[in-house]
Amino acid sequence: MHSFDFATPASVSDAVAILAKEGSNARLLAGGTDLLIGMRVGRATPGLVVDIKQIPEFQQYTLDDKGLQLGSAVTCRTLYEDAGVVETYPALIESARIIGGMQTQGRASIGGNLCNAAPSGDSIPTLIVLGATAKVIGPGGERDVLVEDVCVAPGRTSLAENELVLSIDIPAPVANSGACFQRFIPRNEMDIAVASVASSVVLSADGSTFESARISLGAVGPTPIFAEEAGNLLAGKPATEASIQEAADAAEAAATPINDMRGTIEQRNHLINVLTKRTLREAVARAKG
Ligand SMILES: Cc1cc2nc3c(=O)[nH]c(=O)nc-3n(C[C@H](O)[C@H](O)[C@H](O)COP(=O)(O)OP(=O)(O)OC[C@H]3O[C@@H](n4cnc5c(N)ncnc54)[C@H](O)[C@@H]3O)c2cc1C
Repeated sequence: MHSFDFATPASVSDAVAILAKEGSNARLLAGGTDLLIGMRVGRATPGLVVDIKQIPEFQQYTLDDKGLQLGSAVTCRTLYEDAGVVETYPALIESARIIGGMQTQGRASIGGNLCNAAPSGDSIPTLIVLGATAKVIGPGGERDVLVEDVCVAPGRTSLAENELVLSIDIPAPVANSGACFQRFIPRNEMDIAVASVASSVVLSADGSTFESARISLGAVGPTPIFAEEAGNLLAGKPATEASIQEAADAAEAAATPINDMRGTIEQRNHLINVLTKRTLREAVARAKG
């Protein structure tokens, strides 16, 4: 690995000041489970690594009636060890529990997963269907960015080089709603997704009709995809298998997969159809309580 300087700012404003001064020479480190791998293979060669784990705001989270305000360096393990988060956001926990193994989950953060901007990032489709926003901070102050607008290309975000994600805010689930995340990998070991889908639904009070739905796809495009039309198709439709099939076909049409060592275009399209149906069915079941 190349040699580099290491900074441990104690406050958000210090971190912002360092980024403002160093620009593209600096890279933030949360858990380091993506960054350090990238540096070891020479994919990332920052002159300065800025460790944000010491800054309380990045490690804090609050769960209340407004939702979950998640400091961007909070780890996957912290989330699935919190009974309140497990009960309130089962889809988020499905993502957090699947990111690497237990050792990785003890370091890996949801903010790092998002900012790494991998097409296969397992938390990103879930954050999108939960309507999450990233609170971004930089020299010009704070701004809120919908998670679906964060990833712009493989490994690239819409953040300026002097900006960072302070927190990820997930609204509280509304009545009669449910969400689910599932991915496909070819073996029962650690791997990244061949394809993944997150779905969320809001049903009518009697559970018979979709009021709204959101569907997001992973590993089938240059970024995680918000399949907005596929979800919108369900609004006002009966909560039946026929409606779910229609949405699954639309989700498949929104996918733009490639052939690579993990899967073919044909397989990935098929997987998106299957996973959309499975996640919608489970989201409906959860919405019905
Ligand atoms: C063995 C192993 C298995 C893995 N399996 C999976 C898997 O199954 N699914 C999956 O999705 N991922 C997987 N990963 C990748 C990785 O663990 C996740 O993406 C993790 O969530 C990254 O979080 P982190 O805190 O370690 O990020 P870091 O490595 O610290 O950071 C990742 C990137 O985001 C930037 N960054 C971090 N925080 C911020 C911030 N607040 N603002 C702006 N930029 C920021 C960093 O500069 C870096 O470019 C795996 C990694 C390993 C090593």
